[in-house]
Parts: sequence; C-alpha cells; structure tokens
Amino acid sequence: MSRFFTKRLEKLTPYTPGEQPRDMQYIKLNTNESPFPPSPAVVEAAKAEAGRLQLYSDPTCRELTDKLASLYGVTPEQVILTNGSDEVLNFAFTAFSDESHPITFADITYGFYSVFAELNRVPYVIKPLKDDFTIDIDDYCGNCGTVFIANPNAPTGILLSLDEIEKIVKSNPDNVVVIDEAYIDFGGESAYPLTAKYDNLIVVRTFSKSRSMAGARLGYALGPAALIADLEKIKFSVNPYNVNRLTLRLGEATVDAESYYQEKCAAIIRTREETAEKLRNMGFEVLPSKTNFLFVKNDKIGGRELYEKLKDRGILVRHFSNRKIRQFNRITVGTPEQMKILIETLKEILKS
Ligand SMILES: *Cc1c(COP(=O)(O)O)cnc(C)c1O
Repeated sequence: MSRFFTKRLEKLTPYTPGEQPRDMQYIKLNTNESPFPPSPAVVEAAKAEAGRLQLYSDPTCRELTDKLASLYGVTPEQVILTNGSDEVLNFAFTAFSDESHPITFADITYGFYSVFAELNRVPYVIKPLKDDFTIDIDDYCGNCGTVFIANPNAPTGILLSLDEIEKIVKSNPDNVVVIDEAYIDFGGESAYPLTAKYDNLIVVRTFSKSRSMAGARLGYALGPAALIADLEKIKFSVNPYNVNRLTLRLGEATVDAESYYQEKCAAIIRTREETAEKLRNMGFEVLPSKTNFLFVKNDKIGGRELYEKLKDRGILVRHFSNRKIRQFNRITVGTPEQMKILIETLKEILKS
C-alpha cells in the first residue's frame, strides 16, 4: 500500500481469482468455466460486430434486454445487464445497504461478498453454515438486513429449494434479498418467477458458467422494475457503457442458441453424477452438488496436499485456505475425458 492509498479502504482485501496459468498445458478444473466452447453461431456473431467497434455500445442494452425479457416473460424494465454478474452484485451492495440495512451472508460462500462489503464500506453480518455445510434459513428470516445468498451455494454446491428461498423473501418485507444464481442451470429451480410476487427480490444470473462465456463478461439481474431502476441508477453513475458491443451481440446469439446450451448443461450434469459416484467409491466425501463443480475431501490426504499433487501432475483444482474448508478441494466438472484423467490421477496419488 502506498502512503497515498485512502485510509477509508485500509481493510480492503481484494478477491483472489483462481489461477489462469499461461506457462503449461493444465487440465483446468479450478474456475468453473464450461469445458465447451460457445455455439458456432456466437463465434460468427463476434466477427460481424467487430467491424462496428468504432461506435460506443448501447448503454440501455436494448436488444439483449428485450430478448431476455421475452425469454423470462417479464418486461424490459425488470432486467439489467452488466459486465459479468460480479458487477451487478457490487451495484446491489452499493444500492441496498446502510447502517440500518447491514448485509447478511454465509461464512462459506462466494468470496466476493465480503470484498464488496468492504469496498462499499457497509456493515455486514456473517452467518455460519450448519455442520453439514447447508444454510440455516432461520438465520436469514425476520428482517435481519439485506440478504445475499448464492443458490446453489459456492463452493459447497448445495441447493436451497424454492420454498426455502420464498420463506426468506417473505420474512424480509423491509429488506432486499439478492439470490445469486450463477449455477442454477445445473439442476436448480430459479427463483425469478417470485420477482412477480415480491417487491424485495432480485435474482442475479450470469453467462459465464452455463453459457460458456466467462471471457466475454456478461451478467444480469431480474427483479421488480423499481429495484432494477435503482441498480440502473448506480450503473449510470459508474459506467454507462459497462457491456461492450461485442459482448452484447454474443449475448443475443447465445439466447438464440438456447438448445445448444441446454444440451451442454445436461452433459455436464451427467458427467458430474458419474464423477461423484466414482469419487465416493474411492473413499471421497462429495457434497451433493447442483452445480458444475464438486466439493470433495478424502481423509487420507490433506486438502492442500491433494491440490499440490494434482497440480504437479498437470491438473488444476481450487483449494481454499479457510480453516473450515481447508480439507476440501473444489473440482470443476470438465469433459468425460478430463474426468477420466482426473480419476486415474487421484487413484495414483492415493496409492502412493
Ligand atoms: C462465477 C460466479 C459469479 C460471477 O461471475 P461473473 O463471471 O462475474 O458473472 C457470481 N457468483 C458466484 C457464486 C459465482 O461462482
């Protein structure tokens, strides 16, 4: 920190992204990217749009907003598009928290929530997960503050039911509840239909995971028009051109290729279940995942040690040093071929 860095942000510890190595060909199972490329139609769309990059992007993101609105049966005023869903999450921290609305989230969840709380300098309350790594929904009921829940949760992969989400939303009439559905397409049921019924619910989605577009940075939120207008107010105060022209075009082509992505999600779910079973047979504890990753541990080897041994053998997974989960590793579900190599490598490591 230089002597010029603001004292206001003294305590800020930035988010640590998963490694993006350039030196060696790893099997990359550490950042929950899709193992599949975008649909060929999306690649074509990029080429066509690149010739118009001299123009700013549309700050209202009109065409893609309309497409998403009709996909979900909502009005365009109920949709906001952002530069990855991280951006809209940050906007929500800025827009919906203050001394009387502290942010509430779990101790084991998406690492960015505490970063955004510190960056926005808002109070926050951390609720521990239960011993089985599930969320205790009572912790979030009864107007406890602005609620952020990743559903399914990360890095556990565990899903709350729609009934449980509704219970939380219903019991917080004077607080905004933000449900981060980064992984909802891998077996969960989205809460977005509830946004028609409750004026305090925002559902955040991303093209990064199930839509094979992590590198293009595209996220969005669905919610009541009044809440979306609040988020737009923040967006237009920070960066009106937050989504670039290329990404907008790619997003439109992605929505048009819905069936391609549904097939890929189904394939990932199949591979996930097969891999989970193999890991359990090898003595791993595998938390029940409704995402494109598995959160696993094996009492025969430390979490950090397993991470390192896999890395030495060319496979990158994600390890977190937090005491409560340091025995675990988070493994992204890749292609069946990648999972075969993973299983063989794990067998070899456990033997030695
Ligand atoms: C990956 C992820 C996101 C956001 O990713 P973007 O690439 O910014 O859309 C948000 N929440 C959770 C829980 C995630 O895992």
